[in-house]
Amino acid sequence: MRRHNLASLLRLVHVRGATSRSDLAALTGLNRSTVKALTADLAQAGLVRESAPVGRGSAGRPSITVEPESELVYVLALDIGVEHLTAVRVGLGGVVLDRRELTQSPKDYDVRRTLRRLNKLTCALLADAPPKARCVGVGVGVCGVVSTDDGLVRFAPNLAWVDVPLRALLAEALRTSLRIELGNDGDLGARAEHLRGAASGLSDVVYISGEVGVGGGIILDGRPMRGYGGYGGEIGHMSIDPKGQGCRCGRRGCWETEVGDEAVLLATGAPTGMSLAQVLDAYAAGERWPRAGMRRVARSLSVGVVNLVNIFNPQLILFGGAVRLIYLAVEPLVQQALKEALSAPGEQVRLGLAGLGDDSIAIGAAELAFARLLDDPLGTLGRLPELLRAPA
Ligand SMILES: [Zn+2]
Repeated sequence: MRRHNLASLLRLVHVRGATSRSDLAALTGLNRSTVKALTADLAQAGLVRESAPVGRGSAGRPSITVEPESELVYVLALDIGVEHLTAVRVGLGGVVLDRRELTQSPKDYDVRRTLRRLNKLTCALLADAPPKARCVGVGVGVCGVVSTDDGLVRFAPNLAWVDVPLRALLAEALRTSLRIELGNDGDLGARAEHLRGAASGLSDVVYISGEVGVGGGIILDGRPMRGYGGYGGEIGHMSIDPKGQGCRCGRRGCWETEVGDEAVLLATGAPTGMSLAQVLDAYAAGERWPRAGMRRVARSLSVGVVNLVNIFNPQLILFGGAVRLIYLAVEPLVQQALKEALSAPGEQVRLGLAGLGDDSIAIGAAELAFARLLDDPLGTLGRLPELLRAPA
């Protein structure tokens, strides 16, 4: 019971940030003296900090505020994308403390090379962490189909990875016995947006994100949709045109071949070396050449969005990553196309932009890494193995 109550209190402070003891009592249903004793234990363990009263509590007395020790208790969150590798220190409370990033291109996709580069990023990040700060977990987002229980990347078509035992390899590369949690990048982005971003407080949400590949995560009835094996939600591989472009998954005309950043460059016939942003700028400036191509991309984006509306009846569809920029460029066309959805779910959906920017996947990965601490705060701290350290 004590463990459960400690977990409830720490989770509330982690999600809400600074919260008064009287609000914690109201939210948990515990009495104030119990809350006081438990938050004192969490403070003693270095997980929260209690600060001088601000304002007045519900009983009219000033109430002490409890906030997470974000600077001192953190996780390492890694994001393995097609065009970037990112390592982020995320403090308790979901605070991004520090980040390092490398760009990626196909020459970097070799698994051993990826591990070396992740190790380099991690060492640089940890070398700058305060000496007293503790790393309590590692979470990793991967742009592929992930078996979370086995720590295995089953298939990452855009990296050409098949059945890579990433958890074991990373533990060796980072020289840590901390547990490493893996997740699909789209699922983690959805989780982060649902907990702390643009989808906070909503129950049914589809999150779409991508650069070269298009991934997604789906929240149904307040919970992440996993599918039987945890492989659900691969919306980038729903078929839009069976005669379309070849996809790295082996099929043709998958959504990601029609709406990702490569698709925009191809559809508009952009000159070699031109970036997505430059194409979108030219289109926004009213230049003629990208117009027909952008209309085709908008059509494909709309067809996929309408399918998602009809299947999942979401309250909100969020666009993140490069898809965010593409959506912004053709927003009126996609909004207009919502009329093609079945009228009942079509009337209920809103289209919007991811709120956490480039860090949504890392913030989602951090939530995976914090899960054990939040389930059993003092027990997990007591069992922490050799901490992750930068080499001397
Ligand atoms: Zn595909």
